[in-house]
Amino acid sequence: MTSAGRFAPSPSGELHVGNLRTAILAWLFARSTGRNFLLRVEDLDRARAGAEAEQLRDLAAIGVRWDGAVVRQTDRGGLYAAAISRLADAGRTYECFCTRREIQEAPSAPHAPQGAYPGTCRNLDPAELEFKRSTRPAAIRLRSDTAEYTVRDILHGEFTGVVDDFVLRRNDGVTAYNLAVVVDDAAQGIDQVVRGDDLLASTPRQAYLASLLDIPVPEYAHVPLVVNSDGVRLAKRDGAVTLADLALAGVSAPAVRDVLLQSLGLPAGTLEQALAVFRPEGLPRESWVWPGYPGRLQ
Ligand code: GLU
Repeated sequence: MTSAGRFAPSPSGELHVGNLRTAILAWLFARSTGRNFLLRVEDLDRARAGAEAEQLRDLAAIGVRWDGAVVRQTDRGGLYAAAISRLADAGRTYECFCTRREIQEAPSAPHAPQGAYPGTCRNLDPAELEFKRSTRPAAIRLRSDTAEYTVRDILHGEFTGVVDDFVLRRNDGVTAYNLAVVVDDAAQGIDQVVRGDDLLASTPRQAYLASLLDIPVPEYAHVPLVVNSDGVRLAKRDGAVTLADLALAGVSAPAVRDVLLQSLGLPAGTLEQALAVFRPEGLPRESWVWPGYPGRLQ
């Protein structure tokens, strides 16, 4: 299988300029290292009808082209189930009946990192298990044997983060993102993961899970986000931040692409022209403040 990078949007709405900037970077990283570039629609959760088509249209409008067919997570339930069965057979899973509230209110284990699952259901005895099974459906959690794991990131260097007994399948039957992303990247031959740095904290969990499934850990680059003037991650409420909004305001897709490229220290023009001078070492390491519209975006 040819090695590949990817962009993996969740089709919850239109992409905004922050998502588009990450897509451009993922494309540049993949192409500059001779990799294929794949597109995966992460529609297990938060999918809105019509959003996928809008996202693909907007990626094409700024010049992001991908190889092969688009993959959708909702078509891949069998792969996720097989991975969970494998972990279960190896004694690496358990059923969890906790509600979010119970988890918040549970006393955390001594020295457990903040936000880690407190382990309430990890060692239920058969009677407790039987009783809990009669009360509500179970989520499936990973039985982790480490509290942290270290990954290497092209932009962040070594990063050590929390690994707890995270959820693999939610109690409504939906596969959890952390399991799906690991299984999908492996199945698609993806060995380079470029995405927003808000996901760096989840990466040790994913890399640890990959190690349990004998999957090679991909190369990671967690890229800085686009933020609003308050320094908060850009969102739809920050005004005209999608290509459709910007088009209504008279700003074309190529003009948006140029602003995004320049924000990365790259020349305006096609992505192929940017590729010719792209160097990961030259990328800005800080988040970028969206200049807003109107104003400097001309
Ligand atoms: N679907 C995730 C998102 O849109 C990205 C996941 C990933 O790149 O691993 O935030």
